[in-house]
Amino acid sequence: MLDALGYASLDELVDTAVPAGIRSSAGLDLPPARSEEQILADLRELAGRNVLKTQLIGQGFSGTHTPPVILRNVLESPAWYTAYTPYQPEISQGRLEALLNFQTMVADLTGLPVANASMLDESSAAAEAVLLMRRANRAGADARTVIDANLFPQTIAVIRGRADALGFEVEVADLSTGLPEGAISGIVLQQPGDDGAVQDHSTVIAEAKDRGAMVTVIADLLSLTLIVPPGEQGADIAVGNTQRFGVPLFYGGPHAAYLAVREGLERSLPGRLVGVSKDQQGRPAYRLALQTREQHIRREKATSNICTAQALLAITASMYAVYHGPEGLRGIAERTHAHARALAGALEKAGVELVRHAYFDTIRVRVPGRAAAVVAAAATAGFNLRHVDPDTVSVSFDETTTDEIVTAVAAVFGGTIDSTASSSCAQSQNPITGGVDSATDAQNDGVAGSYAFDPALVRTSAYLTHPIFHSVRSETQMLRYLRRLADRDLALDRTMIPLGSCTMKLNSTAEMAAISWPEFAGIHPYAPADQTAGWRELIRRLEDWLIEITGYDGISLQPNAGSQGEYAGLLAIRRYHLANGHAERDICLIPASAHGTNAASAVLAGLRVVVVKNTPDGHIDMADLEAKIAEHAGDLAAIMITYPSTYGVYDVDVREVCDKVHAAGGQVYIDGANMNALVGLAKPGEFGGDVSHLNLHKTFAIPHGGGGPGVGPVAVAEHLVPYLPGDPVAGGASGTSISASEGGVPVVATLFGSAGVLPISYAYVAMMGADGLTRATESALLSANYVAARLRDHFPVLFTGNRGLVAHECILDLRELTAASGVTAEDVAKRLIDFGFHAPTLAFPVAGTLMVEPTESEDLAEIERFIEAMIAIRAEIDDIVAGIHALEDSPLRNAPHPAAVVVSDDWDRPYTREQGAFPVERLRVDKYFPPVSRIDGAFGDRNLVCACPPPEAFEG
Ligand SMILES: *Cc1c(COP(=O)(O)O)cnc(C)c1O
Repeated sequence: MLDALGYASLDELVDTAVPAGIRSSAGLDLPPARSEEQILADLRELAGRNVLKTQLIGQGFSGTHTPPVILRNVLESPAWYTAYTPYQPEISQGRLEALLNFQTMVADLTGLPVANASMLDESSAAAEAVLLMRRANRAGADARTVIDANLFPQTIAVIRGRADALGFEVEVADLSTGLPEGAISGIVLQQPGDDGAVQDHSTVIAEAKDRGAMVTVIADLLSLTLIVPPGEQGADIAVGNTQRFGVPLFYGGPHAAYLAVREGLERSLPGRLVGVSKDQQGRPAYRLALQTREQHIRREKATSNICTAQALLAITASMYAVYHGPEGLRGIAERTHAHARALAGALEKAGVELVRHAYFDTIRVRVPGRAAAVVAAAATAGFNLRHVDPDTVSVSFDETTTDEIVTAVAAVFGGTIDSTASSSCAQSQNPITGGVDSATDAQNDGVAGSYAFDPALVRTSAYLTHPIFHSVRSETQMLRYLRRLADRDLALDRTMIPLGSCTMKLNSTAEMAAISWPEFAGIHPYAPADQTAGWRELIRRLEDWLIEITGYDGISLQPNAGSQGEYAGLLAIRRYHLANGHAERDICLIPASAHGTNAASAVLAGLRVVVVKNTPDGHIDMADLEAKIAEHAGDLAAIMITYPSTYGVYDVDVREVCDKVHAAGGQVYIDGANMNALVGLAKPGEFGGDVSHLNLHKTFAIPHGGGGPGVGPVAVAEHLVPYLPGDPVAGGASGTSISASEGGVPVVATLFGSAGVLPISYAYVAMMGADGLTRATESALLSANYVAARLRDHFPVLFTGNRGLVAHECILDLRELTAASGVTAEDVAKRLIDFGFHAPTLAFPVAGTLMVEPTESEDLAEIERFIEAMIAIRAEIDDIVAGIHALEDSPLRNAPHPAAVVVSDDWDRPYTREQGAFPVERLRVDKYFPPVSRIDGAFGDRNLVCACPPPEAFEG
C-alpha cells in the first residue's frame, strides 16, 4: 500500500499527512497492551468487586428477564449490534421492521398514534417533551411549564437543566390538587408517580386542556397493560423507558426510551421515526421518515439534536413484546402487581404505614427515623430498597420477583405473608414463552377490587393486536424470525461499512464479552457505592485513559451520544462565561462544513449560531473568521470545529484558529468524532481545545447497534471541570461521583449514562495499548490514502491536505460525472448494494459526494473488493455517457436488484440479468440480495404510516 502511495515507511506517510504543529511531543502514557485472555481475567476481577443484590430500588429501573434467545441472538449478535443507522433502507429492512414493531408497541400501549424509535433515556425524553410542548403550543411566550412534584427526582433535574439553558422557567408543583394560576404552556405528569401512586390524571388533564396547556405523561410501559393509557386520558405526549422489556439494568444504560404523540404532532417529533413506503415495484418497504438526518438540513432550526439513538435496545424491547405478546405482558404485569399487593398486605398487617394505597409495583413505606437502618437490613438480606428520605423507603417489584423474595422482604419489616395471600401471586409459568398466565380469573376480568388502584383506571382497550405480536410463541419461531430479519440486512459481519465521519471499525468479540455478565449488567444505577466498586474502578481507569488520549484535565462519561456530549460541552462553556459575569457571551461560531448536530446542540445550550465560511478547498476561511470575531467581539462564546475537519483533511491553521478565538475571549470546542485520525498522534487538549466530546461508538469500538447505543464523553480543560455534568440524584442513594462534579447540570438520568457498554471501550484501549492505538490511527490513514489514490483516476477526491494526502477518510466527488451522465451519488450508493457493500456516507458534508472511511479494521483484500466495485461502477457510468444505456434503463438507476426482480419472467431491461446481479465474478459465490428494490422515500413522507401495516399489505 505504501508503494502505491510512494512512501518508504508508514512514519514518512504520517509525518507528511499530519501537520507537525499539532503533533504531540510524547507518546501516550497508557498501561502496556494486554491480551484477550488477560483483559477478560481483568474484567472478571472488576466484575467480582461489584455486589449483586436483588434490585428493588425502582425509580425508573427494574429487574427483567432477557429471554436467552433474544440475549444471544440480538444483544450479543454481531448481525444486530454491528449494523449502522438505517439511512440506506434497502439493506436495513430487518432492523427497520424491528423498530417499526417497537413504534407499534409503544403506540398501542400509550394509546397515542405515533411513536418514534427511539429516545436516549427517560429523563432526557421528558426534557424533549417539554421542548416539544413549547414549540407546538404557541399560546403565549411567557406561559410557564409546570411539572408535577411527583416525578422522579432525576427527571426533574434533567428538565430543569434544559430549561435553565434555554432561559425559561419550569415550576414544580403538586398537581394532584389542580393547576396553579397563570398562563401555562404545558404540564408534565408521571404514571405511576415517584411515590409509586397510580393516579387518575383525567381531571388535571382536562383542566390543562381547558386552559390551553399541553400535557405530557411519563408512563411506565408495563403498567399500561393494566392501567388506562395516557392517550385515552387526553394526553398529547407520552414518554418513558422501555428498559424493563428485557433490557438489563446495565448500571443505568443503555436503554431505549420512547416518545409518542397524538395526531398533528408527528412532524415536530424529535428522534428517528420509521415509516412505511413502497419500492420501485410497489412492494411495501420501510425507511426512516421525515426526520432523516434532519439536523443536516435544518441545523440550528432542527427539532432536536438527537442523531444516534438507542436502536439495539429498542429492538430488544420490541422482540420482548413480540415474544410475550399482549397476554404474556399482561401476565407479567399482573404477577408483579400481585406481588406488590401481597407485600402491602403483609406490611399493613404488621402495622407498617404505607404512604400510598393505590399503586402498581412500588410500595412506599413510612419508617420514621429508620430508613437507613431498614435499607441496611434489607441489603444484608440481599435486597436493595430505595432510601427516599430518613423516614421513608420504597420497594419496587418486577418480573423477576418471586414469592420467596416477597416473603423475605416482608420479614425485613417484621411482616409475614400468609399462605392465602402468597398463593394469590403463585403463577403458572408458561412453558413455551417463559411468560406467565394471568393470576386469577377475577384479575383477568379486571373486576373492580382486583387491583390496588381506582377501578376507573383499569384498562379495557386492546393493545398489541397486530399479528406480529401473536405469531411468535416458541423459541424455534423466535430464532427464525430474528435470523430472517438479520438476513435482510448488511452489517459489519458481512461487509465493510465505509462510512466517513462514522468510523465503523471492528467491535471485537473479546471487547463485547463482559457487557452481559450479571455482575456488570445486573447493577442498579442507584445502588449504594459499596456495591459498585468494580464499576467505579473500571470507569475511573477508562476516564484516566481518555484524558491521556485527548490531553484534557477532566471528563464525564455521562452523555449517551455524541449529540449529548456536544450539549454538555457547550453548556459547560456557557456556564463558565456566566460564572465569569459574561452573560452576553452567547455566540457560537460554527463552520459551514460542520456536522448538523453541532448547530442543533448549540441552540439547546442557549447559544446563538453564526456560520463561518469554508474556503473552496475545505479549510476555515480565515478572513471570514476574523470578520465574524470582530463583529461579535463583545459576545463571542465559542467556536465549534471538527478536527480533522468534516472534509477529512488536517487543517494546518487549527492552532491559529484557536488562538484567534481565545484572544477574543471565546472558548474552543473541538468535535472529537474524528479522533480516529488523531489518537496517539495529536491531542485536541494540547493544540487549542477547551472541550471535546468523543464518540466511543466510533473511535473506541462500541458497536453502532443499528443506530445506537452510543457514548459521547465530554472532556474539558481544567477551568471547565466544575461545569461537567453532575449527578442527577446528588444527595440521593447514588454512587459516588468520580471526576464528574456533583454540581454540574446532568444531561441524562444517571451519573454514568450508558455505563453498560463502557467495558467495550475499556477492553479496546487496554488490549491496544499506546503503540496499538497509535498504529491503528496510522493504519487508518494509510487505508484512506490508499483508497483515495486508487480511485482518484475514476472519481476525483474533493479535498486534500499536504502533498495531496487526506486524513482518515476521503470525499469522492460525483458532481462532474452527474452533470455528464445524470448518475447521482445516490445511484452509486444503491448500486454498491448489488456488489454486497454498504454505501459510504452520502451527501455529507457536501451534496453530490460520497465520503469513504475504510478504518484500520479492513484488510487489503476487502479494500480491493471495494475498489473493484467502484471501478466497475465507473465503467457503468461511462456506458451511459457513451450512450450504451439510457440512464433510466441503466443498472445504476435501477439498483439495487432484489432476487425477485432479476429472476422475474418479464425482464425487459437492456442490460442482462447477470450484469444486474453479478457485475463482478466473486458475487456468483457469495451474493447478498436486498429484499426490496429502491424505495420511494417521498411517497412515504406524503402518506405517513408509522405503525406495522396489516399483513394484507404484503400480499401480491
Ligand atoms: C457522529 C457525529 C456526531 C454526532 O454523534 P451522535 O452520537 O450520532 O449523536 C457529531 N459530530 C460528528 C462530526 C459526527 O461524525
